[in-house]
Amino acid sequence: IKKIGVLTSGGDSPGMNAAIRSVVRTCAFHNIECLGIYRGYQGMIEGDFKELGPRSVNNIINKGGTILKSARSKEFMTVEGRKKAHESLVKAGVNALVVIGGDGSFTGAEVFNSEYNFPVMGIPGTIDNDIFGTSHTLGYDTALNTVVEVIDKIRDTASSHNRLFFVEVMGRDAGHIALNTGIGAGAEEILIPEEDLGLERLLESLKRSKESGKSSSIVVVAEGDKIGKNVFELKDYVEENLPEYDVRVSVLGHMQRGGSPSCFDRVLASRLGVKAVESILDGKSNFMVGLLNDKVALTPLEQAIKGHTAIDTELLRVSDIMTT
Ligand code: ATP
Repeated sequence: IKKIGVLTSGGDSPGMNAAIRSVVRTCAFHNIECLGIYRGYQGMIEGDFKELGPRSVNNIINKGGTILKSARSKEFMTVEGRKKAHESLVKAGVNALVVIGGDGSFTGAEVFNSEYNFPVMGIPGTIDNDIFGTSHTLGYDTALNTVVEVIDKIRDTASSHNRLFFVEVMGRDAGHIALNTGIGAGAEEILIPEEDLGLERLLESLKRSKESGKSSSIVVVAEGDKIGKNVFELKDYVEENLPEYDVRVSVLGHMQRGGSPSCFDRVLASRLGVKAVESILDGKSNFMVGLLNDKVALTPLEQAIKGHTAIDTELLRVSDIMTT
C-alpha cells in the first residue's frame, strides 16, 4: 500500500473533519501518501482529488461539516459509474479507500470492493447512531449535546407560558437521539420508532402531569416514531382531547447535524482514523472500525450495514420513573 484515498459521503456529521485529519496524519506517520477525494463517490468518479499532507489538515479538528464536502451519487450506484471511479483511483495511484459515512456509503464501499477487490475500510459518520458494531457513530455525541441545549431553551419559554411542546428530533429508523436527549432534558414522554406507546398512553401521561401540578411539558418525538401521527397532527390531537393544554411544535431539523464536535467525538474520530489506516496496512479490508466496550474494534461491513444497535430498554424504564 502506497497511497490511501479518503472520502466523506452521505449526510455530514460533526467529527468527520477530525476523522479526515486522523487518517491523513496516520498515513504520514507510516510514510504513505493520502489523497483527499472531494464530494464522496461523485468526486471519485470525476477524479476530484487533492493530495493531503499532515499540514493540510491544520485547524480542522474543531470544525463541523466536512472539508472534503459530501454528496449523494446516483452514478456510483451504476456499474459504469463504479468503473469510472475505479479508473480514476488507479490513475491516481490509490491502493485503498477509507469511507467516512453511513450505511448507504458502506453499501457502496462493499459493492465496489466486491467488483474490484479494492481494499476498503469504513468509519461510521452519522448523527443517528444507527449502525451496528459501534456504540457511538461520529457526530452522535455532539448531536445529543446540541439537542439537549436547545430543549433547555425551549423549556424556558414553555414554563413561562405553561405550554406543552412537541420537539421533533432526527431519527427516521432509530430512537437513540430522542431517547437520550429526552432523558437528558427531562421530557415528559419520548416517542421513538422502536416502540409504539400509543396515543392513549400519551394522553394519560399528559393528564397526569397536569394534575400533579406541572406547569409545562416537553415531549420529544423522533422523526420516525410509530405513533402514526406527525408532530403537527399530534398537536391537533392533544388540543382536541386535552383542551387545557396550549400546545406548540418545534422541529429542530438540520441544526442537529452542525456545530463544533464534542471532545468525545474528536477523540473517537482520532482513534477510528488511526485504526482504519493501520488495519489497511495490516492487510484487512471490508471492515468498519467502531467502538465496542470502549475499545476500537472491527466489524465486517456487511454486518455493520444490516444490523442496528438496539435501543437500551432500560433507558425507557428510567424515563418512566423520572416522570413520576
Ligand atoms: P446517512 O446515514 O446520512 O443517510 P448514508 O451513507 O447512509 O448517510 P446514502 O445517501 O444512503 O447516505 O449513501 C451515500 C452514497 O453511497 C449514495 O449517494 C451512493 O453514491 C452510495 N450508495 C448507497 N447505496 C449504494 C449501493 N447499493 N450501491 C452503490 N452505491 C451506493
